[in-house]
Amino acid sequence: MPRLLPVLLAVLLTSGCGSPAQGAGILATTPLWAEITSATACGRPVESLMPVGTDPHSFEPSLADRGRLDATLLLVANGGNLEEGLEDTLSATPTFVHYIVSNDDASEYHDDDTHHDDDTHHDDDTSDPHIWLDPVSVADSLPALAEALSAHAGLDPVSVEACRRELDARLRLLDRDIGDRLATIPDARRVLVTDHAMLGHFADRYDLEVAETVLRSHSSMAQPSAHDLELLAEEMSDQGVAVVAIEETGRNADSRRLAEHTGATIVEIPLRLGPEGSPTGTYEGMLRILAERLDDALRG
Ligand SMILES: [Zn+2]
Repeated sequence: MPRLLPVLLAVLLTSGCGSPAQGAGILATTPLWAEITSATACGRPVESLMPVGTDPHSFEPSLADRGRLDATLLLVANGGNLEEGLEDTLSATPTFVHYIVSNDDASEYHDDDTHHDDDTHHDDDTSDPHIWLDPVSVADSLPALAEALSAHAGLDPVSVEACRRELDARLRLLDRDIGDRLATIPDARRVLVTDHAMLGHFADRYDLEVAETVLRSHSSMAQPSAHDLELLAEEMSDQGVAVVAIEETGRNADSRRLAEHTGATIVEIPLRLGPEGSPTGTYEGMLRILAERLDDALRG
């Protein structure tokens, strides 16, 4: 019976007896990834390191956050340089960090993409870390997440796989609903300007065009000059852009000035989860509201 020992070991490991998995098991960096991770983990509670309403680009961990992180088995992070203020902490923690998007892939493209001054500048979606705005990309990220849950948080791979498939089906249904809704927007109206590089994944998925971003960066932390804004206004009138999308709770002073200056419509969209129980309190609710508001604004 040479196979008995590994089987017995596996049973002991997954049963969690005496393991630190009880209690402080799994954390995610944002409330949205906490929800997705919890659903993949069959409803097991997953807390978010960042409280609801935090801008993930500017979040700085406290000492207590570091302690909490170090006591965790598995941290699920968005990656792609979304969690800019958390990177040093993540590289120093003994906790296993599962990145949904690899930071290496993103920075490779990012270097090339910033300070791009010619007319062919387009959102390179690999420099846009807001991958969760495409439900199919979320669905595609789940097998690796499921693997991390089994390998690093000791969850039973068979049940996790069943829960992953259920979530996968829900995400693909959500994608079809949004796709059907946006499909009938006339071609000439499928173009917009966004505050920062935030809608690249969404636009790729639903065949919209992000003509430019006000902050020429993947991050909400950058600052455009008055000259940049003037060029943007010209470009918008050249391309007939009538909509500027901003993040509902973000600092959007430059985008608002640009919209006022050009007569474009401002549309406020949610990019992250709202408080529990609010319409944007779930991933699905948030994404449906985002799609509805964009749909209304683009049709004019
Ligand atoms: Zn953002």
